[in-house]
Amino acid sequence: MRENILLQVNELTKTYGQHQAVKQLSFQIEKGKCIAIIGPNGAGKTTTLHMLAGLLTPSSGTILFPGSKKKDYRQLIGFLPQHPAFFSWMTAKEFLQFAGRLSHLTKAQLTAKIDETLAFVSLLDVKNKKIGGFSGGMKQRLGLAQALIHDPELLILDEPVSALDPNGRRDVLKMLQALKARMTILFSTHVLHDAEQVCDSVIMLKEGKIKWNGSLTELKYNQSASAIKIRTTEPLEHRFDGMPKLAHIEYQDLHTAVLYFDEPSFDKRLLLTRIIENKLNLLHFEHLQDSLEDAYLKVMNQ
Ligand code: ATP
Repeated sequence: MRENILLQVNELTKTYGQHQAVKQLSFQIEKGKCIAIIGPNGAGKTTTLHMLAGLLTPSSGTILFPGSKKKDYRQLIGFLPQHPAFFSWMTAKEFLQFAGRLSHLTKAQLTAKIDETLAFVSLLDVKNKKIGGFSGGMKQRLGLAQALIHDPELLILDEPVSALDPNGRRDVLKMLQALKARMTILFSTHVLHDAEQVCDSVIMLKEGKIKWNGSLTELKYNQSASAIKIRTTEPLEHRFDGMPKLAHIEYQDLHTAVLYFDEPSFDKRLLLTRIIENKLNLLHFEHLQDSLEDAYLKVMNQ
């Protein structure tokens, strides 16, 4: 199991003056996973990602790459900042040569990688054009290319799509989808839908603390209310009095009711048994589930 862990974060904390921006975060990331850090403005996403990328020193806590023998783990990481800065007089190719040299790639390695990476981000045909003339979407894709040029094990992206128009968003999310097969990805967003499109699981941050760490399926399953709507030919009143785990009943008419249970994973067979014991003729049986958005809001507001 431990060989599978790429990154292990323990009690990571960052304090600015009196303000604790990130509070004792502990989590681990398995190799090959795609994780979204999601949370509102000021939740601590950028601060966390900057510490992981080695751009900011933690106030306390540790960041470990258990499988790496190197002390300086920055070689393992590709990072796309929230607001990437470019030299507008450089061409796309020159910028990647510059970024590649910072990542200690040799000239021969760079020559092989530049065209391949530019082709991946659909910028090969403008490789000799100056960045000053690029659109926001093209710049973001070039930013992604510089984060990929040295084939990192972990790709960290800070709000990679929030400044893009719908087409640009779709393009970058598609690229992340393709990159999932090649590397581990960690990206921040405040949009649940972006996380849902690409990621296996989410770390939800609020006021510097983890509110949820797990898969989106588990989030939906564990957090949504367990409610079952039934309709029968017989009147329903008092048929379920005293039933264990039943929180309350909402009668929609004499024959239709929504039953709310205390446990999200309530075993529906118990209700069916009760219906049979009561000799009710069942016309409709429906599990009502909250949307992922409802489950997300529930956790964030807890
Ligand atoms: P956003 O979605 O707006 O980018 P975020 O989740 O990335 O927000 P951070 O930028 O990490 O949040 O900020 C977390 C908290 O730390 C905020 O309250 C912010 O004001 C504070 N903060 C961030 N950087 C600094 C700094 N250099 N000095 C002081 N406070 C800071």
